[in-house]
Amino acid sequence: MDVDSYLSTRGGLAPLRFREAVMMGLADDGGLLLPAAIPDVRPQLDAWRRLAYPELAVAVMRPFVGGALDDATFRALVARSYATFAHPEVTPVVTAGPVHILELFHGPTLAFKDVALQVLGNLFEQFLRESGETLTIVGATSGDTGSAAIHGVRGKAGIDIFIMHPQGRVSPLQERQMTTVLDANVHNLAITGTFDDGQRVLKELFNDLAFKRQYRLGAVNSVNWARVLAQVVYYFYGAFRVQERTGAAAIQVAVPTGNFGDIFAGYVAQRMGAPIRRLILATNENDILSRFFTTGEYGQGAVHPTLSPSMDIQVASNFERYLYYRVGEDPARVRELMAEFARTGRFQLPGADPLIVAGRGDTAMTLDAIRRYWREHHYLLDPHTAVGVAVAERLADAAVPTLCLATAHPAKFPDAIRQALGEDLARHPTLEALKSLPVRCVTLAPTCAALAAHIRATLAAKN
Ligand SMILES: *Cc1c(COP(=O)(O)O)cnc(C)c1O
Repeated sequence: MDVDSYLSTRGGLAPLRFREAVMMGLADDGGLLLPAAIPDVRPQLDAWRRLAYPELAVAVMRPFVGGALDDATFRALVARSYATFAHPEVTPVVTAGPVHILELFHGPTLAFKDVALQVLGNLFEQFLRESGETLTIVGATSGDTGSAAIHGVRGKAGIDIFIMHPQGRVSPLQERQMTTVLDANVHNLAITGTFDDGQRVLKELFNDLAFKRQYRLGAVNSVNWARVLAQVVYYFYGAFRVQERTGAAAIQVAVPTGNFGDIFAGYVAQRMGAPIRRLILATNENDILSRFFTTGEYGQGAVHPTLSPSMDIQVASNFERYLYYRVGEDPARVRELMAEFARTGRFQLPGADPLIVAGRGDTAMTLDAIRRYWREHHYLLDPHTAVGVAVAERLADAAVPTLCLATAHPAKFPDAIRQALGEDLARHPTLEALKSLPVRCVTLAPTCAALAAHIRATLAAKN
């Protein structure tokens, strides 16, 4: 069955094809795009178990891509995307004490966002090549997303990417993961301000519709459907590997969560028929999502900086996709709830979802999990993964095997590892090598005028 037809959660768009959905990102009516139907793949599961990761990725994503790409082109695109991963299994499963760990950090920037952004970069390139158009991606980052996006599109024809980071306020490693990329289409900007200044400047630039049209601005946010879709694959892959080891009929999966993107992919996998009994949602102290799943209240709080910075989020941009299913695929109800949230900063839903349990792992629990897994199982957790493991220890059903998603390599967060263990145990050759590479970065005032002038001048000089 082809499900290559996409609708907005707010009901304001005529059905789109996969290509249009990928190029649009955020739906033009302010909602998020979802496939009109989700296929039941249970009859395919036994055949899928035998597939290597890239073949499984083709099989899982194929129905959602529809006629946008022919089989051979799509197969080659997926193979290219995962050839950049350092592990032959792409996302291997390792067993550490009581849990199984799905390592999603073997891509170029050592965080799980590579799994989706490597595919998204190739999809952009393919679609632009076919249409003859160009794309200017502009983003603001506090760390992980910017580097994964840069590595997703570096060297790609038809695309330029401008990424702002707050000067001196991202970790030195994360900064180098961005500024050492010297491809001619990659433009790093250190703004003399905060991350919030970057977000504000970005918003202003996207509100300049003439500029947006002239330069064909695109965003690298986590709401692009293709990012969710690429992440669905590893839920199947991980479940199959755990089933092989345990013989279990179904598993549970613990997911450290910020924007609800990764865990929403698990929810889609579940709806497709992956052998997943339930999802364990884990947040840090920024707990809007764990509060929602325990109390029914979705209410915004202040953002607290933690040891797991990629989860320091209070408005989860992908949550609206889940909400759409939770209210019975009713766009009018989604519009009502999102309007109430915009007006009052909260809303309340009755009942609970038997598929999702949720909890919060604070700083003490994070450090404790890192310490115990190192001492008892000789496995080093990064602080994001540790939040998921700590919450899984409290909430997991002991009768069902648990798969914990490992979202980053521990060497990306040396301060947290030092705080937990008293020494710098986490190393990775890719990160060590960055220290001696040349960098390129332009310093910019945090204003929309400065950014627009810089983009104009840079692109004029290239063409
Ligand atoms: C982005 C990120 C997360 C959170 O993922 P969401 O899809 O936003 O829920 C967790 N861990 C790491 C290391 C990340 O980079």
